Amino acid sequence: MLKKLFQSFRSPLRKPQQHVRTTPEVLSSSQHSLQRSQFSRYAVNIVERLQTAGYQAYLVGGCVRDMMLGITPKDFDVATSATPEQIRAEFRNARIIGRRFKLVHIHFGREIIEVATFRANHPIDDDDEDSNQSSRNESGRILRDNVYGTLEDDAQRRDFTINALYYDPVTERVLDYANGVHDIRNRLIRLIGDPQQRYKEDPVRMLRAVRFAAKLDFGIEKHSATPIRPLAPMLRDIPSARLFEEVLKLFLSGYAEATFEMLVDLELFEPLFPASSKALEDNPTYTHTLISEALANTDLRIKQNKPVTPAFLFAALLWPALPARVLRLQERGMPPIPAMQEAAHELITEQCQRIAIPKRFTMPIREIWDMQERLPRRSGKRADLLLENPRFRAGYDFLLLRESAGEETDGLGEWWTDYQDANDSGRRDMIRDLGSKPDATGQGPRKRRRSSSGKRKRAGVDGAE
Ligand code: ATP
Ligand code: MG
Repeated sequence: MLKKLFQSFRSPLRKPQQHVRTTPEVLSSSQHSLQRSQFSRYAVNIVERLQTAGYQAYLVGGCVRDMMLGITPKDFDVATSATPEQIRAEFRNARIIGRRFKLVHIHFGREIIEVATFRANHPIDDDDEDSNQSSRNESGRILRDNVYGTLEDDAQRRDFTINALYYDPVTERVLDYANGVHDIRNRLIRLIGDPQQRYKEDPVRMLRAVRFAAKLDFGIEKHSATPIRPLAPMLRDIPSARLFEEVLKLFLSGYAEATFEMLVDLELFEPLFPASSKALEDNPTYTHTLISEALANTDLRIKQNKPVTPAFLFAALLWPALPARVLRLQERGMPPIPAMQEAAHELITEQCQRIAIPKRFTMPIREIWDMQERLPRRSGKRADLLLENPRFRAGYDFLLLRESAGEETDGLGEWWTDYQDANDSGRRDMIRDLGSKPDATGQGPRKRRRSSSGKRKRAGVDGAE
């Protein structure tokens, strides 16, 4: 399909321009592979209705880009000359969302089409660029983004050339203002305009470059890649809530493993996960293997349409940073379990200053980690109680992950795998056999507890520490 697409370009070897032109390259239906029928019929209807009402309207962004590459788009965006209020006047099922950055969502059952008014990108002044205050930077961005503009302005303010392609399903023409088609053909992520300036305007574009490069298996064009390392620390000034959203997109789009490699290589991982980055320096093989394995599992689950939880992902990303902290607290005289609890608390609190992980995820992160303390303690009724714990599965998967990264657990993962498969009497035997292995109760060299009911109760409380 790609071959067919590329064969049809008029002058494929034309030197790419980085700046947006005032008149676009126009590709007629015979010069590109897009077909109106491939796009969401709701999105196509919206474009048609807006055009009939006298506005300009196009399908734009990721859906045009992905379709040109033969990828199924995850959503369909429309760009139009109509203002949000004018759009709403046309569609009864339209809702204006966002206070400062206004967009319109048009609802068709479960499908939502996002319709945005053409915007202009106003250059920022030097004061703004030098500001280290995230609030000032942030308000500057929002202000700029809300200035409406022409179609040409709209193309100019977009991030990458491949994201600035406009498809008109009525005439079936593609408008290419920034040589995006050329870059799709050469599989390149290229910023529109001066890369350094565009990253400074919005440092999140550095993360978007990596996200698209990993997802599409594209390279980042040299001039767009060079400024990333020196500008990477600017991510520290981005509001943590926005970074949380971006990090989810980075790691939950099915290309997390490749994304992680690229983030590390371009020094973007450090400003996002400073403690994990330190662990990567101090203990490279273990940290790298654990994180990569977790991300590879996540990618696989997404490909298999299985659910993935951000909590597991963050638990894995941060886990390698824990031991050093636990040790530090133990050196100050704290016993192991409180030290672990305190280290986990500190680490999550620090991480949330960079990336605002909501409480509904930080709680299960802690539970997955706590489970690692409990899984070795299997004597008496503990094993069965753990199996009933709603967090058991995540905790067990996490244990297997630690083992696959080379952590020595004395066959604990295999034991739990067998225990889940065993019948009642098999389970009883397994628990009884624990008695012959001094460490398997999780009590270390301490003497094995007897399974009188009083003792069991106490053991359960210990296990919950
Ligand atoms: P996908 O939806 O597959 O992640 P996308 O390209 O559609 O990819 P969105 O985040 O949905 O990405 O954004 C839609 C479009 O808005 C982009 O294609 C791009 O043109 C523009 N855009 C988004 N974020 C930025 C940004 N930070 N700077 C400039 N343009 C942006
Ligand atoms: Mg999109």
